Amino acid sequence: MDAFKGKFPHIPERISRLGELACNLWWSWHPEARAIFHMLAGNGSEFRTYNPVKLLRELEGSVLEAAAKDSRFLRHYDAVMARFDAEMDTYSSWFYSRVADPRMLQIAYFSAEYGLHHSLPFYAGGLGFLAGDFLKECSDLGVPVVGVGFMYPEGYLHQKLSTDGWQLGESEMLDREKAPICHVLDKNGQPLVIKVPIAELPVYFEVWKAQVGRVTLYLMDTDIEGNDPWNRGMSARLYIGDPEQRLVQEILLGIGGTQILNALGIKHSILHLNEGHSAFAILERIREKVEKGLSFRDASEQVKATTVFTTHTPVPAGHDVFPFGLMDKYFGSYIPLLELDRDSFYALGVNPKDPTAGFNMTAFALRMSAYCNCVSKKHEEVTRKMWQHLWPELPEDKVPIDYITNGVHLPTWIDSRTSALFNKYLGPNWLDDHDNQSIWQLVDDIPDIELWRTHRLLKMIMIAYIQERARQRWLDDHADPNIIMASGVMLDPNALTIGFARRFATYKRAALLLQDTERLKGILNNQNKPVQIIFAGKAHPSDNSGKLLIQQVFNAAKDQSFGGRIAFVEDYDEEIAQYLVQGVDLWLNNPLPPFEASGTSGMKAEINGTPQLSVLDGWWIEGFNGKNGWAFDGNGSDNGDSRDAEELYGILEKEIVPLYYEKDEAGVPHGWVRVMKESIKSTAPAFSSRRMVKEYALKFYQSALRSANGIKP
Ligand SMILES: *Cc1c(COP(=O)(O)O)cnc(C)c1O
Repeated sequence: MDAFKGKFPHIPERISRLGELACNLWWSWHPEARAIFHMLAGNGSEFRTYNPVKLLRELEGSVLEAAAKDSRFLRHYDAVMARFDAEMDTYSSWFYSRVADPRMLQIAYFSAEYGLHHSLPFYAGGLGFLAGDFLKECSDLGVPVVGVGFMYPEGYLHQKLSTDGWQLGESEMLDREKAPICHVLDKNGQPLVIKVPIAELPVYFEVWKAQVGRVTLYLMDTDIEGNDPWNRGMSARLYIGDPEQRLVQEILLGIGGTQILNALGIKHSILHLNEGHSAFAILERIREKVEKGLSFRDASEQVKATTVFTTHTPVPAGHDVFPFGLMDKYFGSYIPLLELDRDSFYALGVNPKDPTAGFNMTAFALRMSAYCNCVSKKHEEVTRKMWQHLWPELPEDKVPIDYITNGVHLPTWIDSRTSALFNKYLGPNWLDDHDNQSIWQLVDDIPDIELWRTHRLLKMIMIAYIQERARQRWLDDHADPNIIMASGVMLDPNALTIGFARRFATYKRAALLLQDTERLKGILNNQNKPVQIIFAGKAHPSDNSGKLLIQQVFNAAKDQSFGGRIAFVEDYDEEIAQYLVQGVDLWLNNPLPPFEASGTSGMKAEINGTPQLSVLDGWWIEGFNGKNGWAFDGNGSDNGDSRDAEELYGILEKEIVPLYYEKDEAGVPHGWVRVMKESIKSTAPAFSSRRMVKEYALKFYQSALRSANGIKP
């Protein structure tokens, strides 16, 4: 409490808990909590863009004084705080009633990125959102998780395009004081500083925390005095390209992250690694046990029995390999602490297919974790093939790698107007019980016209938002007219609108629809049945082929002969994602199989009644049922792209466009609304993070806990 008071000294006593609420991201997935900040902001603007910590710090004292005396505001405030307290209670949770007493165990969850809210730029893409949605769901279900990650103060890489469509990055420093995070303090009330003695020059970091409902996420910040400049930049941004910096980052994440938990006295029985970046946490757990007198063999068996590892991608760049020479520099003095010799240590991380390449983080994590999983059924198949050689004695289908298909956090991604419709037709408890398939059958009771009108409204809101961004760009930057014309100012609320937004990694094939520009023009510029496409996404700053794809899309957007029916929205982030998945008519996903391990943006779209047209890869193989969207193989080997593009054009021309424009006198396209309803019904229960987190708890945590209980402390 006191920490919040210090941060917001001017809040009147009667509403003093506003500070606590602003510092707990719980508000971000509770519309009624967002509403009280909206009431304070009071200017009618869309609240989504606000960060309540910033809001409270910048508000005039008189506004807060007035709120503290306003009976209507106080009624809302009291109701929200009562709900907040009820949801923080440990004993009224699914986990407590179904799995275990959360006080008896802690699960440490390590991830290099977290996508929680756009006020915290700690993510690059899907992996981060998966981790963010995971923590929110653990909070909702009462799963006793603590998160560990980095605070990337330069994580905001604002994307702007030059007039010729080249991505220019501008990084903006995070204002730590106005972000929804707090310093973790030591016994003397000073910021807790942790020292990681990994090389000649130790690295120091301060610890911050973000509160995600019941779950605490600890974040490391190396940008502090006491570090030399090279080390200061270690947590500046995600996925540094330089291998040595990257190795140090991963040492900090795994070893430094474990030290945070120790410093705070948080004893974790289970370790969950979200991707291999944090796998050194395994070593640190083993080292502690060896220090207490266990042999390496016993220590590693105990650690293995209580470790969960989730692998997220078959793309090679997602699997770090550090050359042995580099490893020697940092682990030379660490290896003896494990009571291992150099060769036995490196054997833990060797990939037998490429033994001289170095220490492979994925091979290491797979060997050292009793519970390994992929993020979709198809991904399991691909991963077993990729790593079968680690278990040469086992046939492929016995390789000990399981799968738990990803899911998305419904309260975060469903628009509040759509959920109001669900309240009306699915009953008031739909959200509490949303992984129950039967509730969703009631979607059929929603009158088509109501679902359609809600969707139309969200589409209009999205277009207004995109146009307002363009106006700001024109006003603030005096941007070139070409950039403005390409940024969505000509969007038409009546045209069938396709959304394509994700990281511009080459395998995602952002420019696939541009393969045959003449045919595409025919589809977009059809007088009676026009189609428009909204693109958004960033390329990694060192990925020139991704930047070339952006340029290709942007050039099409500014090409007059497309009639303003292609838009590129700059600076894709979580906020834009919200507007797009809720506002477009159709979500497009056309990566090159089998590289999309799961994909989650299509789930976000489908739960809002935005059907997707997707390659049969990742989650869509499980999700597509013939009624809830469209699918194509996309498996073209040679000439793959042009054949896949042909298939896309064909589905658009023959099925999607005609269905969309087949409307009754009231303007309602009943056939289309049928697909929207099927999308919601099939996706919301099965591809929710609720279903996913319950699977982790029942499949992995429960039995890892049994192993943990058998281990003498
Ligand atoms: C959901 C999400 C992603 C991941 O999308 P994919 O389709 O899985 O690539 C990336 N960025 C943002 C902002 C998201 O919300």
